Amino acid sequence: STGRIVIIGGVAAGMSAASRAKRFDPGAEVVVFERGDYISYGACGLPYVIGGEVEDFDDLIARTPERMRGQGIGIRTGHEVTGVDAKAGTVTVLDRAAGRTTTEPFDRLLIATGVRAVRPDWAHTTLSGVHVLRDIPDGQAIEASLQGKDGKAPKRACIVGGGYIGLEMAEALHARGLNVVLLEKGPEVAGRMLDTQLQRRVRAELEAKGVDVRCGTAVEGLTGEGHVTGVQTSKGLVRADLVIVAVGVKPNTELVKAAGARLGKTGAVAVNIRQETSVPGIYAAGDNSESLHRVTRRKVHIPLGLTANRMGRVAGVNMAGGDATFPGIVGTAIFKVFELGAARTGLTQAEADALGLKAVSVDVDSTDHAGYYGDSRPIHVRLTAEVGSGRLLGVQLVSPRHISVKRVDVVAALLHRRSTVQHLFDTDLAYAPPFSGVWDVLLVAADKLN
Ligand code: FAD
Repeated sequence: STGRIVIIGGVAAGMSAASRAKRFDPGAEVVVFERGDYISYGACGLPYVIGGEVEDFDDLIARTPERMRGQGIGIRTGHEVTGVDAKAGTVTVLDRAAGRTTTEPFDRLLIATGVRAVRPDWAHTTLSGVHVLRDIPDGQAIEASLQGKDGKAPKRACIVGGGYIGLEMAEALHARGLNVVLLEKGPEVAGRMLDTQLQRRVRAELEAKGVDVRCGTAVEGLTGEGHVTGVQTSKGLVRADLVIVAVGVKPNTELVKAAGARLGKTGAVAVNIRQETSVPGIYAAGDNSESLHRVTRRKVHIPLGLTANRMGRVAGVNMAGGDATFPGIVGTAIFKVFELGAARTGLTQAEADALGLKAVSVDVDSTDHAGYYGDSRPIHVRLTAEVGSGRLLGVQLVSPRHISVKRVDVVAALLHRRSTVQHLFDTDLAYAPPFSGVWDVLLVAADKLN
């Protein structure tokens, strides 16, 4: 048997690893330490609980501690790991309820501690009504504010940050009947995901639904006594009685450093393709870790759900004595804001330019279904390729029928194989009028780029 496998962090990466390790080596002892009260939940669903599409925070929980224990996995919620001694092969664990610290041995260790929400200096505040959104307790705290449990029920929400979490929360709070102002420091929303033309469409959707979007606006501070009353910005005061700070994340790397393992250039944990850190026997997986970008062949830090689950699986198998490898990512991401879906994979033109690649993009404005078919809706495709070689670099899609942008997956699959625009054009895509045009928009874009 592989002995005692200790896992720190009980969400996507940690629980995937625990399940896989136990399945691979039923004789192994697998113990998970999670400092919070919840394990194995989908943080991705939090905005939809707050918005009302999902009834309860509990609905996000995939596997309960009881069920995991039934599979022979030790689950210790409310237990925070405060130290790692790689030489001794031990971790220090604080039982938060009892206030007691113990030392626990491991043969293999997985650090799956995720990321934390960045709180700029001004967001360190004792004012109530100011939140980040990372886990279920954060979501519950936002819900409590919405119900006026920390003051009056709020009427005006201010969201700081126009990334996908800020955008999803704009929709959620709008659905709850609040006036929503979205502040973004950069020139446009979705700045890290899309090229400018498509960012504008995202902003237009928000504005059409009545969200007050203010780009180029930096937050300088908060006002209020006891409860927040406003946000001080580079362009004046914005009144708000609920503030969501969604300005990015930072990997939790304290324990990795304590173990003597290396961080990568991105600031996230450096791991090999088996998810092992620079310290043998100590693994890392999920949001705290770097991954290989298969288009650029560079290490990147793009913390997302599937990546975390997949890395966890790989780490679990390897810790249990198997031999699994993480294939890397291609930068695929998708989100919805109101009616609009937006997706991207690979590189945007701006990202390709920043990397010094010779790239060219074409834009196609078409319909997602056959034009003559009743409910066809617009779709915008921006396809990017390398000049000369014709190698596909990426695609971006925006459509008011959000599910239509899921065809991003076609290009994601091709990017894994370093395919060309010609390969995309030659692909036999599905066609019937209720689904696409004879020549799907992706094929039209490939034809135009070829
Ligand atoms: P986490 O989920 O962060 O789990 C890490 C766990 O480790 C935490 O529970 C933490 O308490 C615990 N921990 C940390 N330190 C210690 C310690 N010292 N001792 C014990 N326990 C510790 N991804 C997508 O792909 N698509 C989406 O649509 C999407 N939407 C999202 C929406 C929101 C609002 C949020 C917050 C995230 C979203 N994500 C989305 C990201 C996705 O949730 C993460 O990629 C995923 O949760 C990462 O899993 P993880 O296990 O690496 O880390």
